[in-house]
Amino acid sequence: MAVDSAISSPLGPPACKKDAKALQFIEEMTRNADAVQERILAEILSRNAETEYLKRFKLNGATDRKIFKSHIPMVTYEDLQPEIQRIANGDRSPILSAHPISEFLTSSGTSAGERKLMPTIQEELDRRQLLYSLLMPVMNLYVPGLDKGKGLYFLFVKSETRTPSGLLARPVLTSYYKSEHFKTRPYDPYNVYTSPDEAILCADSFQSMYTQMLCGLIERKQVLRLGAVFASGLLRAIRFLQLNWNQLAHDIRTGTLSPKITEPAIKDRMVPILKPNPQLADFITRKCSEDNWEGILTKIWPNTKYLDVIVTGAMAQYIPTLDYYSGGLPLACTMYASSECYFGLNLNPMSKPSEVSYTIMPNMAYFEFLPHEPNANRSSTRDLPLKLVDLVDVEVGKEYELVITTYAGLCRYRVGDILRVTGFHNSAPQFHFVRRKNVLLSIDSDKTDEAELQKAMENASQLLKEFNTSVVEYTSYADTKTIPGHYVIYWELLVKDPDNSPSEEVLNRCCLEMEQSLNSVYRQGRVADNSIGPLEIRVVKNGTFEELMDYAISRGASINQYKVPRCVNFTPIMELLDSRVVSAHFSPSLPHWTPQRRR
Ligand code: AMP
Repeated sequence: MAVDSAISSPLGPPACKKDAKALQFIEEMTRNADAVQERILAEILSRNAETEYLKRFKLNGATDRKIFKSHIPMVTYEDLQPEIQRIANGDRSPILSAHPISEFLTSSGTSAGERKLMPTIQEELDRRQLLYSLLMPVMNLYVPGLDKGKGLYFLFVKSETRTPSGLLARPVLTSYYKSEHFKTRPYDPYNVYTSPDEAILCADSFQSMYTQMLCGLIERKQVLRLGAVFASGLLRAIRFLQLNWNQLAHDIRTGTLSPKITEPAIKDRMVPILKPNPQLADFITRKCSEDNWEGILTKIWPNTKYLDVIVTGAMAQYIPTLDYYSGGLPLACTMYASSECYFGLNLNPMSKPSEVSYTIMPNMAYFEFLPHEPNANRSSTRDLPLKLVDLVDVEVGKEYELVITTYAGLCRYRVGDILRVTGFHNSAPQFHFVRRKNVLLSIDSDKTDEAELQKAMENASQLLKEFNTSVVEYTSYADTKTIPGHYVIYWELLVKDPDNSPSEEVLNRCCLEMEQSLNSVYRQGRVADNSIGPLEIRVVKNGTFEELMDYAISRGASINQYKVPRCVNFTPIMELLDSRVVSAHFSPSLPHWTPQRRR
């Protein structure tokens, strides 16, 4: 029931008193965005005044924007790597942050093939928690009654390592789920999960998924929303159900847990939850043994009001598949965040995926924006000074790269995301996520850029040398029609000695060699998370890439400037390529991956 409150806001009316406070907070932050930003910057600069980094740029304790902007350079991860390495190696002096670095968050963005290490401090957990606490109050504005049921969310922890000095290095969500903030969260009727914490916190991804699915099936009628962090995660859960429904139904029928579940904490937790229920087992068997899985989510979880998954950015490729399995349930993208910093939330979470805009919360960090000219020729802009724009000064319709200054000590750090301003909520801008810079291929959280693909290609083509064969052209495609999706690389070969051309087995090995060369997030997706399928090379007929060029030119590309696209997803081009395929090859085994970093 809506609460009649004096503090109801343009975001109201709130669903309960707690929500009223949260919405009020959003209003305050967004109304005073510029003042909040100024305060945040001053706070960050004053507490970090004695850090080696700020002293190096002779800030001399200044905390105002003008001096900050004129003294501190914009940086990338690579610029900060020496400092980060020192922290990882055990230097506890205040290098970037006056507060001790509590751990490293391992980003899905990579540098030299390894996950970037983002230093963080203890109190950042509070900031993340604060942003999380705003999500349901906003959702409750659009979807009533979420306190009458539960959410089936597939949430996972991933492997963690330690740096040479013993600091933990792990993904930000793993850090959050393992924190007391999450584990001892107070009961909130609007935010009850079917997954027990014991399942979420189990590092074995099979046992974790199995238990979460089992609990979701047992409580299927209570489930009001279904989710995972990214769209790819929810599709992985559907695939898991396809492969394991028989065993799951057996457990439900007999009230016994599969012997594959060995984790003691899960086994104990499941005792009161899992009771023999032949009726439910029959239902699951009936639905899952149907050949047609269209709308399966709504058949099994009939009260689901929406899917809570990120389908913006690279994840947009999964929208049609999710629509297929859900019968077109609304897709809610609730927040925009990264290992470096949690940025903001979607104040209209039931909007269509193509219209999703995220409002950056001015209290999370100090935000600046580098104007991004989508078609700018680099050499012509090289000499222009790069002028960063403040949060409240961005212009509707323009694109920017996000630059952040955080409490943990990142100063004017380029995140690598390109955003377009769509409007304002009060004085806080709202952004459409356009894309991440330099990402060519992505299936799950992996991000492969052009240089990585080129290197992988070169390494693999070495195997062809002894057959006097070379790759004359190549392009790639992220094939998400299968679950999990996989990379497809189109190769046009020049076989100089047809009597000694590379065999099927050699081309299969080329697939594996490419995978070995890709970054650790890709390899982890292949090996540990099973979120990416085996890489495929499709060899195309000679002359195919020339046809591709002819096609581009017929559509207006300039002959002189034509470059082979290193990634394709335009249907007529895919059709052309696929109609010229002479053979297809898959990686025969898993690439090498361990949680340990190579460097
Ligand atoms: P990570 O550092 O591995 O957590 O990845 C963070 C990155 O994921 C961001 O910088 C974005 O590129 C991407 N990302 C996070 N949230 C969203 C979102 N809501 N929509 C699109 N991309 C997102």
